[in-house]
Amino acid sequence: MVAIKAARLGRGSMNSLTCPRCRKNSYSSYDASFLACPYCGFKFSKKYGAEKRLEERTKQEIPFTFFHREENFEASTLDVSEKGLSVEIFGKPLVTVSDIVGFSIRDNQIKAKVRWIVKLQYKSRMGLQKLN
Ligand SMILES: [Zn+2]
Repeated sequence: MVAIKAARLGRGSMNSLTCPRCRKNSYSSYDASFLACPYCGFKFSKKYGAEKRLEERTKQEIPFTFFHREENFEASTLDVSEKGLSVEIFGKPLVTVSDIVGFSIRDNQIKAKVRWIVKLQYKSRMGLQKLN
């Protein structure tokens, strides 16, 4: 019994953090420290959110078709900024980090480098760095 109680107390002192970028949960014992998300590397803290010095990201959901290695996937942007964007893809394209991908969103041709990928059950999220 004592051991169980100690374990519960131990867990209680940890904070569950939801990454603002990939939405996965991780744990930290400090509210205010900036830690990199173990899944996508995004730095944030529970207390302050995303690091302020990071570029402004605008939430923008624009549907588009992601075509990669002869396969079409339904996709949508999640947020868009000057230098990059994060997208959600319905399916699991054969993409790996640092691949160069190309697609068009509302007639804009986009060429981008994959910076991170999170694979969920039926979909994938990717962070892309714009190259054009
Ligand atoms: Zn993350």
